[in-house]
Amino acid sequence: MSDTIFGKIIRGEIPSDFLYEDEHCIAINDINPQAPVHVLVIPKRGIPRLVDSGADDKELLGHLMLVAGKVAEQQGVADAFRLIVNNGANAGQTVFHLHLHIIGGRPFAEGRMAG
Ligand code: AMP
Repeated sequence: MSDTIFGKIIRGEIPSDFLYEDEHCIAINDINPQAPVHVLVIPKRGIPRLVDSGADDKELLGHLMLVAGKVAEQQGVADAFRLIVNNGANAGQTVFHLHLHIIGGRPFAEGRMAG
């Protein structure tokens, strides 16, 4: 597990309400939400960036996608949400422990890339 803020949250060193937890990942509300629903799905395995994952992570990465869909449903945004992974500082990644952003609950401009 990486020693980022997310590692500390996963280890329980920083209190946080888990919206979802299983043996592979957790989901928490983003502390600085960009939309009414802004949830982070975070694997317990501390992979720094998406590009640092490998063939061994194939099942985990698929699992994170499935959990993201379930959590989106649980949050009432199954019909309209975006799933975002920022990879690298120049793409806006600030916490170097892989995570998926689920963003929903507000209209999205058609074709817009930014969350
Ligand atoms: P990224 O910029 O893709 O690395 O995303 C990191 C996200 O983590 C940002 O949206 C932050 O608002 C969020 N964040 C940072 N610290 C916490 C925390 N303690 N609890 C929940 N979300 C956090």
